[in-house]
Amino acid sequence: MPSLKMIKQFVPQEFCLKCRGCCRFKEANSVWSPCLLNEEVQELLDKKGLPPASISIDRRLQLIANPIGADFICPFLGSQDNQCKIYDLRPFECQLYPFLINLRKGKVLLTVDLNCPYIYEQINSRQAEEYIVYLTDYLNSKPLRSMFKNNPQIIQAYESVREVAELNLPYEIK
Ligand code: SF4
Repeated sequence: MPSLKMIKQFVPQEFCLKCRGCCRFKEANSVWSPCLLNEEVQELLDKKGLPPASISIDRRLQLIANPIGADFICPFLGSQDNQCKIYDLRPFECQLYPFLINLRKGKVLLTVDLNCPYIYEQINSRQAEEYIVYLTDYLNSKPLRSMFKNNPQIIQAYESVREVAELNLPYEIK
């Protein structure tokens, strides 16, 4: 399958670099750790030299203890400079955040995590409304439907997130 184009970012990069919320997790086996597409697993093993043990059986990045904190971080996060070391190759789920694909009551939804302070402030803005239309159209497109079919692991049931749109993906795809 050809590589997918990068998703347009809603949260400005300067904001992300100052915020110390993303890419950090309370538990070592957090359900919020990035879940990878099959092709991303291969790419990270081949191009980034990630040891196979860094990817769990359910295709999640294995978190590591934060050397400068009491939490756990993504193995690609620079704990000092807060930069993603694979930013140009970052996984689909990372590109999507603070939006998430969510399975709820048999429906596949686009949801948002309002713990992100930027989206919390912006969720009712026109800019967010337009972005959600862009994202929904992209996620419903043919190449993405095919990607979801091949990667059912990324359709997950996250809790405490707000629904923003229903996606045109049948539950059976999972
Ligand atoms: S791959 Fe990059 S963007 Fe994704 S969780 Fe890790 S550090 Fe953050």
